[in-house]
Amino acid sequence: MLRRACFAALWILPLSACSAQTPQPGAQPAVPAPTGSVQVVPATPQSAPATPSPSPAAAPAASPAPTSAPHQPKVTYSQCNVEGPYVAITFDDGPSPENTPRLLDLLKKRGLKATFFVVGQCAMEYPDIMKRMAAEGHEIANHSWSHPLLTKLGEGAVTEQLQRTHDAIQQTAGVTAKVMRPPYGGFTANQRVWAHKKWGYKTILWDVDPLDWKVRNAGHVESEILKRTVNGSIILAHDIHKSTVDAMPGTLDGLLAKGHKFVTVSELLAMDRPTPPKPKPVTVEKTPAPAAVAAPAPTPAR
Ligand SMILES: [Zn+2]
Repeated sequence: MLRRACFAALWILPLSACSAQTPQPGAQPAVPAPTGSVQVVPATPQSAPATPSPSPAAAPAASPAPTSAPHQPKVTYSQCNVEGPYVAITFDDGPSPENTPRLLDLLKKRGLKATFFVVGQCAMEYPDIMKRMAAEGHEIANHSWSHPLLTKLGEGAVTEQLQRTHDAIQQTAGVTAKVMRPPYGGFTANQRVWAHKKWGYKTILWDVDPLDWKVRNAGHVESEILKRTVNGSIILAHDIHKSTVDAMPGTLDGLLAKGHKFVTVSELLAMDRPTPPKPKPVTVEKTPAPAAVAAPAPTPAR
């Protein structure tokens, strides 16, 4: 029953991307599309991550930092610019007693590290799984206490969502979360900066989204991930779905076969390099001087 309570929380918010969205049809009726006004919500997950294309759109609110603000630390990542075939695979919304242990077995068998964005109340319910994640070298990160859309909450409520989960991770797994992922990818630019100041959190989105919460088909999940993953990718998946875990043997082996190396999100961020400056159009302007002198009368041409 507790278990049910835990996941029920995830199903309350049917909209959106990150997780439970359509998880249990039964949940949908509860809050179909939160009243009229909430059309905003689906849009909010400006987590352009939802867009299949890996690159540009993915850095929605993150992008302001690069150019404009001179010394603002980068606080949002949808992917990283790394040298080498490194990728981070992430699993949201657990731990799940039915699926997470099996996933941990698959990872352990291959010696791979993942990052788990856990829901605080589930973490408190399954402390043994939390301990195991930490013991086996995975990163554990904050995905809020009960999976609400944080952009709709005031600062006090958001603080509670993140602090309770921060504490739950420490209490159950004995580690301190360094990064967070907002449910549905919904977190305003101001909230991202604020969470970074308050907990040191970087906000982690994703560039590879197999829509595993929606398409409960292992073959689809595997092929989408294999098709879209590139060096520096942050892969989004959910360890609360059986079909997602079913997809993992083929997915993990497929990525390994392509030469990818698995690291945790924090390890991937540590490898991130500033985006190389755009190559200047190496054209005319530089060379003309001498030549210009030499051939001063190019007049006729145009
Ligand atoms: Zn989620």
